[in-house]
Amino acid sequence: MSEHEGTYRTFTGKTYSLYGINTGTNQYYKVIKKLADLFLQQCPDKKRLLFQIQKASVNRSFFKKRSGKNINHSLISFIKKTLRDSLSVYTAGVKHHLRTLPLSQRFDSTLMTKEEQYHLYMLEIELVNRIYKEPFKSSQYKFALLPHCLRDFRPDCHSVPGDVESVCKECTERCFIHLGSLLLKKYNIHPYISVTMDLEKLFKRLKAEHPSIGALGVACVPELVNGMRICINLDIPPVGVPLDANRCARWMKQACESSFNLKMLEALIK
Ligand code: SF4
Repeated sequence: MSEHEGTYRTFTGKTYSLYGINTGTNQYYKVIKKLADLFLQQCPDKKRLLFQIQKASVNRSFFKKRSGKNINHSLISFIKKTLRDSLSVYTAGVKHHLRTLPLSQRFDSTLMTKEEQYHLYMLEIELVNRIYKEPFKSSQYKFALLPHCLRDFRPDCHSVPGDVESVCKECTERCFIHLGSLLLKKYNIHPYISVTMDLEKLFKRLKAEHPSIGALGVACVPELVNGMRICINLDIPPVGVPLDANRCARWMKQACESSFNLKMLEALIK
């Protein structure tokens, strides 16, 4: 039994849940690893595969206009179909969410993420972790952003403003920000609670202060991909762990408790 076994409850998100039909999220991680291995047999260059799936996850009309000759269409069709067959169980809420999303929120690209994009993003996170794990670990300064939604439902949260973002004051043992922060500190990674909206500005500032820097994120699937892409553009090696489900107020209209897989976090940073 792992040390955090009793900490987890099964969570359903607005659009996705890494629990699927299981009582834990380990099965999801086994599935996504197997899928990445399978696609890497077809396209052994990890960065090339990442490029392909990033292009495939942009909206369809843009993809048609801009994809051109660099896209391996038969590979992408195979990937999309295989992902759909294997990952739909984790994205059961997307269609209903999109059908019922108010008109006023249809300009929000995160809220408008389609089911196929979720699947491609899940693969993208796995590939980015494989590509950037070692560069991240060998960075001199490493920091992590944990999502504020993990503590939103705690009106008595004792976190305080820190030098980069807010920092946890470890007021309660079962808070996932506390548990994640303890683990991160063990591996010399500075943990912060993400509050800033303008990530690019924050990352540019940190890169200027620490030329050898690595970033770790915990966020819902679309937000994690967005953060990873910003980091890569700024030459900051990123890694990340998706939230087990998307349950913050942006999705659920009120903050609901969530979690992430601490075992996967440790596997990524040890
Ligand atoms: S453990 Fe940390 S993040 Fe969680 S409620 Fe307490 S101060 Fe806030």
